[in-house]
Amino acid sequence: MLAVVKEAPVPGVSVKDIPRPSAKPGEVLVRVQASSICGTDVSIYDWTPWAAGHITPPMVVGHELVGEILEINGDPGALRAGDLVSSETHIFDGTCYQCQIGNQHICENMELFGIGRDGGFAEYATIPIRTTWRNDPSLDPEVMSAQEPLGNAVHVVTKADVPGKTVLVLGLGPVGLAAVAVARAYGAKRVIGVNRGAFRRELAVKMGADEVLESVPSSLHGRADVVLEMSGNVAAIEDALAAARIAGRIVWFGIPKAPASIDIGKYIINKELAFESVFGRRIWQTWHQVSDLLLSGRVDLATLVTHRFRLAEFEEALRVMRSGQCGKVVLTL
Ligand SMILES: [Zn+2]
Ligand SMILES: [Zn+2]
Repeated sequence: MLAVVKEAPVPGVSVKDIPRPSAKPGEVLVRVQASSICGTDVSIYDWTPWAAGHITPPMVVGHELVGEILEINGDPGALRAGDLVSSETHIFDGTCYQCQIGNQHICENMELFGIGRDGGFAEYATIPIRTTWRNDPSLDPEVMSAQEPLGNAVHVVTKADVPGKTVLVLGLGPVGLAAVAVARAYGAKRVIGVNRGAFRRELAVKMGADEVLESVPSSLHGRADVVLEMSGNVAAIEDALAAARIAGRIVWFGIPKAPASIDIGKYIINKELAFESVFGRRIWQTWHQVSDLLLSGRVDLATLVTHRFRLAEFEEALRVMRSGQCGKVVLTL
């Protein structure tokens, strides 16, 4: 089968033929229909220090997929052959302290799909039964493949508590764009998106932003009830702290590439800011919320999907990802 493989601990990937996998005990085998590209996949391609610390090549890349179940090796639960399923990226062990208290998404012994084990940029993939999500068949397969970032956005916005509030979204990558749509759907009074690139500012308007800006002006300082920091840009940390209203709330999602220092007295103590942070999606609460938003039409994820490529065109798809002139980029099979 054709697959995108990280073959060695150096930049780049190979698109090549490899043997088709079979479902090990506790896994389903799927025929992949679509797989969307994540910023994480760009890091894996580039072999950043983060990738070097998480990945042992050779490995099939990709973690946002939809596929049809061909085979179930183990107790199927509600799953059946023919179901269109996606994978939760955070493969939890189900036994550690966090799993026992309902925090499977931050399992202490977590394995990551398409990062710590073979993933979904391939014609066939295997997924643990316990992290397999059965999609509503009425959804578009491209939308099914892009639910993972929407899930991140739902988790962020849920923690932010947005009804009736002015929400500032810093960074309009795919998750930031999805957060704009979710904040709107969950009853924010006003949603303001900030992004340097114009393409994604325009897309944010389509996703429901009331206002889009290239940077945070000083006139906005102290005005946002809620700030969603989605960029991971070190400079945006200061913007987030300055823009938050006194006793406002910041949800941190973007991972800064370097440590940052902040003025704790000025921003945190004097302003009595509340902080939340999000890693992944709650399993399966967030996925149900995502489903509700998509099936009710309150979030239109299809608008976010701007480019489609064949699996063999992976390099070209990655070039579009890097350009920033895109929303979600999907590989179709
Ligand atoms: Zn992802
Ligand atoms: Zn666990």
